Amino acid sequence: MIELTCPKCGGTLQTDEKREFIFCEYCGHKIMMETVNVKIDHNITYKEINKAKIQKEKRKSSVAKSIRDIFESFFDMISDFFDNLFIIILFILLIGIVVYARMH
Ligand SMILES: [Zn+2]
Repeated sequence: MIELTCPKCGGTLQTDEKREFIFCEYCGHKIMMETVNVKIDHNITYKEINKAKIQKEKRKSSVAKSIRDIFESFFDMISDFFDNLFIIILFILLIGIVVYARMH
């Protein structure tokens, strides 16, 4: 749990660090956790903020990793395709040579 102060009414709120935003229970103001983390309030425990930030970075890097995986498999597919294309072209050339030889 982290404790923070509503930027609008100054009310003290407690929330789960995993949430992206909360509504102030006093004034109903929607508070984005990110903006609260930037404007560090004395009521917020620094350790909890760092933990939340680290978790966010971890999420980001795992997304980046999965995007990279998708690209890697995509390039694998393309290189496989060109390998096959090369074999197909060789095959067509071979047939062409055979047909040409039979015609003459
Ligand atoms: Zn408020």
